[in-house]
Amino acid sequence: MGKKLLIATLVLTICLGAGGAAAQKKQSYKHTVVLDAGHGGHDTGAVGKKGREKDVVLSIALKVGEYLKKNTPETRVIFTRDADFFVPLDERAAIANKNNADLFVSVHANSNKNTKPFGTETFVMGLHKSQGNLEVAQKENSVIVMEQDYNTKYEGFDPSSAESYIIFSLMQNVYLDKSLKLASMVQDEFREKAKRADRGVKQAGFLVLWHTKMPSILIETGFISNEEEEKYLMSESGQDYLASAIYRAIRDYLAALDAEEQEVKKITVPDAEPEPENTLCYRLQVATTSAPVADPTEKFKGKPDIFEYKDGNKYKYMIGRFATLDEASKFKKANSTEYPDSFIVPFNNGKKISMNEAKKLEKK
Ligand SMILES: [Zn+2]
Repeated sequence: MGKKLLIATLVLTICLGAGGAAAQKKQSYKHTVVLDAGHGGHDTGAVGKKGREKDVVLSIALKVGEYLKKNTPETRVIFTRDADFFVPLDERAAIANKNNADLFVSVHANSNKNTKPFGTETFVMGLHKSQGNLEVAQKENSVIVMEQDYNTKYEGFDPSSAESYIIFSLMQNVYLDKSLKLASMVQDEFREKAKRADRGVKQAGFLVLWHTKMPSILIETGFISNEEEEKYLMSESGQDYLASAIYRAIRDYLAALDAEEQEVKKITVPDAEPEPENTLCYRLQVATTSAPVADPTEKFKGKPDIFEYKDGNKYKYMIGRFATLDEASKFKKANSTEYPDSFIVPFNNGKKISMNEAKKLEKK
């Protein structure tokens, strides 16, 4: 079969102590966190008997910011809104990108026609795995119709059509691992410390998380449609519990990030076998591990073009190698039972690139 195991290493662009805008802002602050209170202004978000989502989530987000500023002064806190006004979804992501944020945390409250559901859940960007998850994303995304020229801005995305969400299955989310980590830390805090019902960490296509270039999560702090939970969400103490839980998750996540960065330097890089020059190709990412897989050819037996590379302190494993996205998509489909969470990653000259960069190269 002549299968070849290529070992390559990606150079981290976020080198410690390197120049550039990212490093400059870190002279005064170690980290930047963008807190995004959902909705605002004429967009009330979900409404309960008395409460409105836009008010509840603003209070919570402001409290999270206070905790961060007070207890972790080395963290810069940026709010997408700190009062009752409307901010389009794409602008929220743009604020985070412009400020080279390390984290983007969007705070929301849930609602349901059925008044029984209650509890907290945290989402990361991706394709939904259940109808319920899709519905939460549809509800949160529906606010774009309040924005002018939303059709152009969101590339014709129709928030209510399930088909529109298929684009998220092709999207590569390079921040997925980190987003999942933060999301589960938030849910752990909600469950263990704030004693809230834990509905888990989920994945769905939220437009507000679509174009963020950093680990990003969307927190549903509870159901405003549930009478008990609405009371809790509207109370000062309830908001304090939720905000301190979110704050601790962010604080611990950033501390773990610092520790990891120290670790990265110590890892010895395996010998790299360079890829041929000027080669755009698509591979299917099937696994991420903290320690290298002892025998990748055995683990991914029978799969073509097994490829391993080191990204930060993670080892990522790819199978297949295709010249076009179309071929790669077919391959992804054929392997979807075995690897349901796999996704396509474009490479050029042996380096991982973004889907947008790949599209540009393809046009050339
Ligand atoms: Zn919302």
